[in-house]
Amino acid sequence: MSIYQKLGVEPIINACGTVTRLGGAPMPAEVLDAFAQAATESVPLEHLQAAASRRIAAVTGTDAGLVTSGAAGALTLGAAAILAGHNLARIENLPCCDGFPNELIIAREQRSGYDHAVRAAGATLVEVGFNEIVSNAGVRRTEVWEYEAAITSQTAGIVYVHADDSRPKLEQVVAMAHKHDLPVLVDAAGELPPRSNLVDIPATGADLVSFSGGKAIRGPQSTGILCGRRALISSAALQMLDMDDHLDLWDPPEELIDQSQFTGIPRHGIGRGLKVSKEEIVALLTALDLFASGDFDRQLIGYRRLLQTVADSLSQAKANCRMIEPSTHDRWPVLEVTVDSAALSRSAMDVCRALRNGTPPVYVGHGSLHEGRFQINPVCLTDAATDVLITRLLEELS
Ligand SMILES: *Cc1c(COP(=O)(O)O)cnc(C)c1O
Repeated sequence: MSIYQKLGVEPIINACGTVTRLGGAPMPAEVLDAFAQAATESVPLEHLQAAASRRIAAVTGTDAGLVTSGAAGALTLGAAAILAGHNLARIENLPCCDGFPNELIIAREQRSGYDHAVRAAGATLVEVGFNEIVSNAGVRRTEVWEYEAAITSQTAGIVYVHADDSRPKLEQVVAMAHKHDLPVLVDAAGELPPRSNLVDIPATGADLVSFSGGKAIRGPQSTGILCGRRALISSAALQMLDMDDHLDLWDPPEELIDQSQFTGIPRHGIGRGLKVSKEEIVALLTALDLFASGDFDRQLIGYRRLLQTVADSLSQAKANCRMIEPSTHDRWPVLEVTVDSAALSRSAMDVCRALRNGTPPVYVGHGSLHEGRFQINPVCLTDAATDVLITRLLEELS
């Protein structure tokens, strides 16, 4: 009996990908082993985070880095670092920003539920541009001059959500921001793979970049990475780490926290609730090394084979399958299944619901159900799970 079944929770077939709602990516054996080993001894977390910083810096080409509680935690800490820096009064007051600049500029088309993480630090978002392609009322994306025109004495920085087709390009936004001495915080949570983004996104000059640790990196679901400029990472670390010590004894690693910046030792900061454990840090670093060495790329052939098996098995079903090729060679393909609703007398939504309510529950990609389609994402599937998936798909699509 599965450990989840003992708790009365039914494990699912995950054909939806590394989404948070379904528990993220399965962790490789090396990562689980690292987690278990790390749990047996005690270490000061600031020293462990300093070691993490060295590893993350090496892999991303940045000055420094921090293991965070997801990319969302990284965004809150990154915003807190931008707002408060090493100013003890500001660190103490967040999320209240009375008396200092707290506006972060963001393109309206880049807003999402994840920007709550930035607002949680105390930032106020100032929107620029429109979403006129989605509203079918125009042809233009956000433009650099719109960011620049929104800068005032209250501006603290810029938030940018990275995607292949984000506009304007990140490097253009960074160049404009740096002309005004403003930092840029980038949400690149789901931008891996391609593996090259680990280096390419920070190489734009962006001051802080967040990546998810529980998606393709396949570390613990609760982890993430914040990397970038040393002074900002130092502030983020300070606002996250436990501060229950005496100034006379406090001796944080200089490479992570620059103690010369302080006349006193701050109390717990706004990020204290975004704790990551020693086990999570070690497991994430193990997963990051694996990912950076190309482990994920080696899985891609197997992913394609799984999807082809599903497509072949559905050849007689009341649905059409199409392989959606990735935008770069080192991402995975996805199988798109278009439901023949007329022949089946059921909509794609009905099929998706029936799959979730069946035994075992099956979750498929649900981003275009209203267009009559669902997706099979291979990243969380095994051979055994794929056999069950095929059986359930045939039952619901025949
Ligand atoms: C997944 C995601 C996040 C959150 O990442 P976590 O690691 O789950 O905290 C933030 N932003 C975007 C765009 C994402 O896709």
